[in-house]
Amino acid sequence: MPDTVLEVIPLSDAQQRVFSSVSRLPERQIACERSAGLVLARDVVATENVPPFANTAVDGFAVRSSDVANVPAELRVIGTLAAGDGTVWHVGAGEALRIMTGAPMPDGADAVVMVEDCEQPIPDRVKINKSVTAGASVRPVADDIRAGDTVFTAGSVLNAAGAGVLSSMNARNVWVYPRAKVALLSTGDELVTDGSPLQRGQIRESNLTMLELLLADAQCEVTNLGVILDDEAALERTLRDAARTHDAIVTSGGVSMGDFDVVKAVLSRIADMQWMQMAIKPAKPFAFGLLNGSDAQDHPQRQVPIFGLPGNPVSSMISFELLARPALRKMMGYTDNLLRPTIHAIADAPLRRKPDGKTHFMRVFGHFGTDGRLHVRDTGPQGSHQLAATAAANGLAIVPDGSGVDAGGSVDVMLLG
Ligand code: AMP
Ligand code: MG
Repeated sequence: MPDTVLEVIPLSDAQQRVFSSVSRLPERQIACERSAGLVLARDVVATENVPPFANTAVDGFAVRSSDVANVPAELRVIGTLAAGDGTVWHVGAGEALRIMTGAPMPDGADAVVMVEDCEQPIPDRVKINKSVTAGASVRPVADDIRAGDTVFTAGSVLNAAGAGVLSSMNARNVWVYPRAKVALLSTGDELVTDGSPLQRGQIRESNLTMLELLLADAQCEVTNLGVILDDEAALERTLRDAARTHDAIVTSGGVSMGDFDVVKAVLSRIADMQWMQMAIKPAKPFAFGLLNGSDAQDHPQRQVPIFGLPGNPVSSMISFELLARPALRKMMGYTDNLLRPTIHAIADAPLRRKPDGKTHFMRVFGHFGTDGRLHVRDTGPQGSHQLAATAAANGLAIVPDGSGVDAGGSVDVMLLG
């Protein structure tokens, strides 16, 4: 391997190398219902009022508040108005209009008395038992959003409610940084994906399943290319095709020291790769590179990031979390919060480790105690092949070099999901 880097570097150096090599995808318009989880590339200015007209907040009777200053008061019911009924009504002195939540306020009325405070013995009479002041239970026009307001600023992340807001003001399409289109593949002749009986030496594939879900959770659009066969020409074609049609490539397996499999051989030849060793456990090996994905008309040329995750399932997950996910978020327009949030927690049981010059990322389960602090315990065996204990974790305890954390000691925990 000509470009193998033997030196072990701190995680922060690896992160710096990777994050500084990726850039934001070009902004694009997207339908509001597909915008949740994405970062806005431009401000969104309202072109409509929300609500578009004054309307009632309750089911009840629209009245002139001066008519119900003294109660009980008896009023003549002039009709009924449902939400969505555009009939123009005028409520005069001594009159009331039966009205349903969301229906437009009739002319003349300035308040609504909720139905619970009224008696309607016969259809055209109502007894009002409670006084209301002007404006009571009325939602004024533009009470939520006014036309001309900047409702969202560039850089903010839309959530489900945000997508609903866009819909409410008819912002059908918005400018965002798009989902990264990611090609995912795994390597390893030992991997079985089709449910067939295991031959000696074979194992079931797990990383593609896990990484596809982690990528989708990170708002990426994933193409799962499956397990790639041990054939350099076929792999080169797959990688070059993936680079032409995707924004990034994630591979699993074959990036350790002394691993001379075809992915490493091919990537070393066709991409600008950095084979890294990080001072962390698990997930020591990591490969990052750029592969030209340009078509003839692309100026400047498109350099497609490749994240080479190690094959051990726990290492694969952790290096995805620490390097690939934040880089993909940067591509999707995130500027801060690239990494998952980390908080100071209390170890309820010892988190034991041996000094080895590395930072350990231990899988822990945490809950918030009555003291308002996060309390964590490890979730079981911490081997990099033991994914089952990782599945029970909701955090990664960041245990610095040394002999670990005593019960009751404090430890930083990166919250997962
Ligand atoms: P590698 O990084 O290719 O050297 O693989 C390290 C370990 O992870 C080996 O035990 C592999 O069998 C295992 N492994 C690699 N890829 C996968 C995968 N996709 N699913 C489950 N285990 C894997
Ligand atoms: Mg392998």
